[in-house]
Amino acid sequence: MVVDPVPRPASAGAADRDAPVRQRSLRTHNLGLVLRQVAACPHPVSRADVAAATGLTKATVSTLVDELLAGALLVEVDPAPRSGAGRPAVGLRLAPHGPAGLGLEVNVDYLAACVVDLTGSVRHHRVDSADLRGRPPAQVLADLTDLAVATVAAAAADDLRIAGATVAVPGLVADGVVRLAPNLEWHEVAVRSMLGEALTRAGLAAVGASVIVENEANLAALGELGAWAEADPGAERASFLYISGEIGVGAGIVLGGRLFRGARGFGGELGHVTIRPDGPRCRCGARGCLEAYANQEAMLRAAGLDRSADDAVARLATQAAAGAPAALAAVAEAGTALGVAAASVVNLIDVDTVVLGGIYAPLAEWLIGPVGREISDRVLTAQWAPVTVRASVLGPSATVVGAAGSVVRTIRDAPAAWLTGGP
Ligand SMILES: [Zn+2]
Repeated sequence: MVVDPVPRPASAGAADRDAPVRQRSLRTHNLGLVLRQVAACPHPVSRADVAAATGLTKATVSTLVDELLAGALLVEVDPAPRSGAGRPAVGLRLAPHGPAGLGLEVNVDYLAACVVDLTGSVRHHRVDSADLRGRPPAQVLADLTDLAVATVAAAAADDLRIAGATVAVPGLVADGVVRLAPNLEWHEVAVRSMLGEALTRAGLAAVGASVIVENEANLAALGELGAWAEADPGAERASFLYISGEIGVGAGIVLGGRLFRGARGFGGELGHVTIRPDGPRCRCGARGCLEAYANQEAMLRAAGLDRSADDAVARLATQAAAGAPAALAAVAEAGTALGVAAASVVNLIDVDTVVLGGIYAPLAEWLIGPVGREISDRVLTAQWAPVTVRASVLGPSATVVGAAGSVVRTIRDAPAAWLTGGP
């Protein structure tokens, strides 16, 4: 499973486009072309297959493949037995060892770490539950560093080298700084530099230097996109609204296979869309935000369940499955509020799918009805252009898997950078 990269700062758009293609950039381009061609095939392919599919000469493909083999991005596999004349060709596939992505996640009630290898497989995944509300950021990031160190060591034991780390946070992020994460009570926390320094002190300088910080719902949306694309390559160009439910509620908007982040990178704050202007005060300071009606706490409170229990959401799902009226009413009420907010988004940006992620995934069976009903009642075009509401395929792990996958996608998109500058 591979996802879109988190955008790195662009060097130059129009200037690059108008510059002549030199030998070096041709090689850079073609290395990526060959690697992606191998990645796109579900079975091992030969050098001749790659040449035929890309239009490159066999000699050029051989040279590029040698570089990718030396850089541990590809491996050779035994040829499939073949009847008929001629010696069967050696197959190529993405390396299951070698470079891998590290995903890290800070959420309100847990920390998580995950390693995804170049083939897109999740190789390690660990979640540590802890109530992080109001804890000093330095303390939280120290715990995250310990989790990262243990995860990197486990990956190294599997012959995986961490090529980079992306950390997901439930808040507004710009330039590696969390401007605001209301549910963590974080303001202006320089996560990239603090985590980078902590990882360096822990002996992971290269990983520390590579840290990217991104909003959790954006990464979850990219994780979801990658999972779809793995099952169906046509889904790479999908457009959808991914709603991430936790203590907070966020959204990732994907249009034509690319993350839509807004002009300043702060898009997707669905949790603070107004449901009722005179509603209860939200942590953000406004009144009647979606979060107050549809977050984890609102549902558990309405269902009369203990909000502090680790398995509270699982209990809510169990009670809903058993037909408990309070649980069903709590989930239906949240679904109605989610549907009202989602309908506004669909009216504005015309996506054809709404994905219920995070804690909404295990509750999707009871949420899809009310969310879909509000969308079909409120979206002007719903009668000609129906909107599908579905559960996330990755569920609560979408964020951290998406974070690790974004590192892998960066290597797949630009293998030359890894070959020359990888840790
Ligand atoms: Zn709010």
